[in-house]
Amino acid sequence: MKIKKGDQVVVISGKYRGKKGKVIRAFPKEDKVMVEGVNIVKKHVRPRKSGEKGQIAEMFAPLHVSNVKLICPKCRKATRVGYKIEGDKKYRICKKCGKEI
Ligand SMILES: [Zn+2]
Repeated sequence: MKIKKGDQVVVISGKYRGKKGKVIRAFPKEDKVMVEGVNIVKKHVRPRKSGEKGQIAEMFAPLHVSNVKLICPKCRKATRVGYKIEGDKKYRICKKCGKEI
């Protein structure tokens, strides 16, 4: 998967289109990412002890990686990711500025 944890991304479709955030979790098997501030879902948390109140916690639901675009940390543009292979190392590169990400 081209997007990793810690990347800055922008959402390109759906309700959160245009919203930027940081990837807080990546799910490579499902091609999904969890982005801070995007796809907020409310979840009821049951009380753990009797007498304690249940709470509503806000969580971020993962979204498909095709709905986000990476923001290049070098040129600050939303970009596609390319790969450069040097020897046995693989680098991600920005398709806009060509720099290593
Ligand atoms: Zn760039």
